[in-house]
Amino acid sequence: MPKAISHTIKRRGKKPGDADVEIPIAEDLATVPGIPAREKDVAYYSRVYPLEAQFIEKSADREWEQAIWNDELTEFHKNHHERNRALVDAAESSGDLGPTGKAEPGRDLTDEIRTKALELGADDIGFTKLDRKYVYASKKRWVKYQHAVCLVVEQNYEQTQQIAGIEAEHAHFGAYEEIGALSLELVDFIRGLGYRGQVHSPSDESVVYIPMFVNAGLGQLGANGQLLSPYFGSRCRLAIVTTDALVTYDKPVDYGIHKFCQECQVCVRRCPAQALVKDKVWWRGVHKNKIIYDRCRPVMARFEGCGVCMKVCPIQRYGMKAVMEHYVVTGEVLGKGTDDLERFTLSGQSFGVGELPELDSETFEFPHGPKDELLFRQFKERLDKEGIPPADQLQQFATAVKRILDKGQTTRYDQVEPTSDLE
Ligand code: SF4
Ligand code: SF4
Repeated sequence: MPKAISHTIKRRGKKPGDADVEIPIAEDLATVPGIPAREKDVAYYSRVYPLEAQFIEKSADREWEQAIWNDELTEFHKNHHERNRALVDAAESSGDLGPTGKAEPGRDLTDEIRTKALELGADDIGFTKLDRKYVYASKKRWVKYQHAVCLVVEQNYEQTQQIAGIEAEHAHFGAYEEIGALSLELVDFIRGLGYRGQVHSPSDESVVYIPMFVNAGLGQLGANGQLLSPYFGSRCRLAIVTTDALVTYDKPVDYGIHKFCQECQVCVRRCPAQALVKDKVWWRGVHKNKIIYDRCRPVMARFEGCGVCMKVCPIQRYGMKAVMEHYVVTGEVLGKGTDDLERFTLSGQSFGVGELPELDSETFEFPHGPKDELLFRQFKERLDKEGIPPADQLQQFATAVKRILDKGQTTRYDQVEPTSDLE
């Protein structure tokens, strides 16, 4: 017997000209719009334990990752950086540019910005406040404007189904190049309307994106740690443009995902690293499935970006409308337990339902934390084992730390050079 329906979400069609879509949400999946949160706790954690960019906090594993890539992946990333560098440079300074047109005070630009973004190739767009609680500590002073225009670009469907592998990486980084370019064009458009804008490039970490996208009603957080868009599931890449133009905020939506993930659990079971957890916890003031970074990171690095949790998600594979309709009619998760959904490839080997690669403990060994702290830890271990080293080794250690300090901290994806310091 079909389930009772709590509410039906109405959204425009996926592409311009497509008919509107209606997504029924079963009564037993209804919770709250967006994500359950305790705002006081979110504020407390942001104040006492401010967030910092992964590229800074985990700089040791970034360098290590590049050192273990095969030639094909190294070449792929080199080419991506060459294509992307000018876009990231332009994004970094975009907020300093003044308007080129004349502003009309009091004019709400939401519709014009939305129409322009879709024309430029965005696949979805929403508006919300830029919540400074989610801005990384190193970028607090860089961020200029208070309104967030949240942009979504779908990555290629066919290539995404090839996960894990270089084909899927083309889809992943190709979408970053696309969204980086269109974000800059959108800022030019906003400047032409008499206002300013700043591009928060996905290749230069400035803010945790997903809370803003959830607030703008563009999806909800999945158990795989990704935004599940009603159109593409997690098969999408995100960027934010902030602006001082007058816009109207969208509202968060209850797509039923918060509870649906607890019914589904496909990504949790299929993750080759067992990095995803079944139960939700309260983490920094929100109720979510918390990913185990130390298990995911080495597997992503060693297996071409992994991404199995994206590939096996039914919302990604079949779309939210089909999945939610199927759940209302059958009470079941579309595709769960079938090879059509759950089969994936890792390192050229295919794994069907119930099969997972056997990963030994060495797979999970990798350098932790910021790279200068790692050097100090290694130095202390040597002191402990071998006593005080000779002067030339002390000099070597000091030189290695100084080189890291001189290079400074970067939030940019294209600014990591593999070094021999961490061997
Ligand atoms: S990227 Fe791979 S290892 Fe990481 S959570 Fe997803 S499936 Fe697991
Ligand atoms: S695979 Fe299932 S549990 Fe995981 S994010 Fe997708 S819907 Fe949620």
